[in-house]
Amino acid sequence: MRSFMKRNHTQLICDIGELVGLFVDTTSLEAFLQRIAVMVSEHMGSEVCSIYLFYDDTQELVLKATRGLKPEAIGKVRLRLGEGLTGIAMKEMRPICERNASKAPGYRYFPEIGEEVYESFLAVPITRGQTRIGVLVIQNKRKDYFDAEDVQAVRAISSQLANTIEMAKVLISLEEKRGYKTPGSVSDDLHHIPCRIGSTGMAVGRAIVGDERYSLRELKEAARNKDYSLEDFRAALRRTESELEAMQRQIEEKLEDVASLIFAAQILMLKDEAFVGAMTELIRQEVSPPEAIMSVVEHYVQMFGKLSNDYLREKRQDVQDIGKRLLLHLVGDREGLQDCKGGIIIVQELYPSELLKLSSQGVQGVILLSGGITSHLSILARSLEIPLVITETPQLLRLPAGTQIFLDAEEGFVHVNPSKNVLDLFDKVKAKVQKGKRETSKLPAAAAKKAASKTRDGTRVQLLANINLLSDLKHARAVAAQGVGLYRTEFPFIVRSDFPTEEEQYIVYKKVADALDGQELTFRTLDIGGDKILSYYDYGKEQNPFLGMRSIRFSLKHKDVFRQQVRAILRAGVGADLKIMFPMISSLDEFLEAKAIVLECIQDLSHEGIVCHKKPKIGLMIELPAVLEIIDDLAQEADFFSIGTNDFVQYMLAVDRTNEKVAEFYLPHHPSILRSLKKVIDAANSHGKEASICGDMAHDERYISYLLGIGLRRFSLDSSYIPRIRAVVGGTDLGEAAEKTGRLLRCNRIEDIDRLLKKGLLKT
Ligand code: PEP
Ligand code: MG
Repeated sequence: MRSFMKRNHTQLICDIGELVGLFVDTTSLEAFLQRIAVMVSEHMGSEVCSIYLFYDDTQELVLKATRGLKPEAIGKVRLRLGEGLTGIAMKEMRPICERNASKAPGYRYFPEIGEEVYESFLAVPITRGQTRIGVLVIQNKRKDYFDAEDVQAVRAISSQLANTIEMAKVLISLEEKRGYKTPGSVSDDLHHIPCRIGSTGMAVGRAIVGDERYSLRELKEAARNKDYSLEDFRAALRRTESELEAMQRQIEEKLEDVASLIFAAQILMLKDEAFVGAMTELIRQEVSPPEAIMSVVEHYVQMFGKLSNDYLREKRQDVQDIGKRLLLHLVGDREGLQDCKGGIIIVQELYPSELLKLSSQGVQGVILLSGGITSHLSILARSLEIPLVITETPQLLRLPAGTQIFLDAEEGFVHVNPSKNVLDLFDKVKAKVQKGKRETSKLPAAAAKKAASKTRDGTRVQLLANINLLSDLKHARAVAAQGVGLYRTEFPFIVRSDFPTEEEQYIVYKKVADALDGQELTFRTLDIGGDKILSYYDYGKEQNPFLGMRSIRFSLKHKDVFRQQVRAILRAGVGADLKIMFPMISSLDEFLEAKAIVLECIQDLSHEGIVCHKKPKIGLMIELPAVLEIIDDLAQEADFFSIGTNDFVQYMLAVDRTNEKVAEFYLPHHPSILRSLKKVIDAANSHGKEASICGDMAHDERYISYLLGIGLRRFSLDSSYIPRIRAVVGGTDLGEAAEKTGRLLRCNRIEDIDRLLKKGLLKT
């Protein structure tokens, strides 16, 4: 009966608009927490919803917002870790759901808050990884009111909001400790720089160098020329707020799977009375508004700097970014000022979340001074369609701001201050590239399928898509990919404050499955670690993260996280041609252990009466040299192999795929690699199992003939490469390919293979 009174939980979790709406019209941090309490209690149909924040220094939980309990209790009720049911939920970092709370062991009675009448009790800890942030509690008079679904829903809401609530907590504690005081040419050889391509495309724009995108210098100059009033400052504040809210909405529309509340922390700062109040106070004391903004921003940057947590590096940038936006809106002349829109970023390194933000701010391109072309940042840039190149040219970091750059990530060049001729060329080539893209996207699916995937002599070859974000699906469809051969499920995990719950994952995965409409769908289970670090998980210091707690090792160590993901996949995959594969498998034992967990999850879901896919194909990625000697044993147990050459080359040749300094040693055509690939395909074929390739070798034209020659018939690649590879496959005669392949396999020296490559022997 209760379900009539309650809204669909899934809808709430999806309803980012509702969560973002929490910020609109909120006037302070406390008001923000209060809005969360109201929203949750309304949605859950609970009579009480309270939010407690946890303070590290005192090791206490403090009631900060409530709907339903006495408002006077806010700030007064304090609980030690483990004290009362709420304290236990925080201490043990697990939800506590009681049908008859006053009889539960650990119950603690507070006469001053008036909660004695509420017997149904659900407390869900708010955490970021191992960091305790607070507890969200809901209560009802009727006994036995909350069920397992409610627990899931409240967990999902707290995990979505954890990042923002943590920010609120930091700000509140800074505010409490507050003692705020009024403060007192390009060298020639830099013209054409060769570089490696991480994500293709072309862009012309002005350089935004290093941390300069947060620099207030230029704006300070612009602001000096005019007098501004307190009212001007307030107007700038309002415009900045609406701008951030609009950006959040836009990014949610474009990237709903990864962009959950990405600008929330900044929106929240603008609601912070201490932050904005300090500026207002200074302006009232006759400090000019630009000076007031800058001094408060600098003060906060310093305070965040002292908080000694890597994760807060990003928060410092958030504050700088707000300062810049406020000044931009105050000065009112956005033209010619250093906003990111249309710019080309030149930086030493970037986080994936920063790349997402930059993408939503309209950045045209990225030049990275470190990293590798198969790094995951490059992979994300491809999904976001941002041209990205890598070059070890630190002088680029000394370019004057605003220098014009032509980034040619088709040919692999950065042109600094390009001449008119170069720019004319850019216009022509760009028009051609765009025309090509338009034609591809106009291609009717049926026509593309007909043209599809047959060698010259008529052998069928499957071309599947690699996807990283939901937004990749439309490209896959546009080029008539025959399904998804690799879904890198970790991206929705990266830009977050905690592991997504089963329900949150289910929502994203279901969208993928629905879009594929019965076509093959291969989920690769979580592949984090290496260059995909989660801000909310403490890895400790790893000297060699690529050899550390990465991929399947992580999943098997954290089986709760693994199970939740597998359950979400199995539930979302109902009706799909579902495949599940594990990354970085090194032994038969590891594969069997992971496979057993999938089978257990199927059993559990069936016992729980939850609909799920009962017979997914279960396979593994071939990424480590260790599997070569046991490849037949693996072929017997697995349903399929997928060769991840990006890692396979890295581990086989001991070359860090993200290290530009050793890029020359990263050789997919090393004889050991070529021969190993054959060994894997032979093993799969002789056991009647499918094999595919999903690393970047699959989109490199030079290798297609060789791969066909060793018997590979399934390629999974970024959709943008599919039309070209389809044409290459179509031009290949298998007889000729086999003959060339034989010659290559007989080479035992890299230089001989290089020579054959130069002659185009690997090509069709
Ligand atoms: C690979 O290693 O080739 C692969 C496809 O996986 P990822 O690039 O995500 O590591
Ligand atoms: Mg890999």
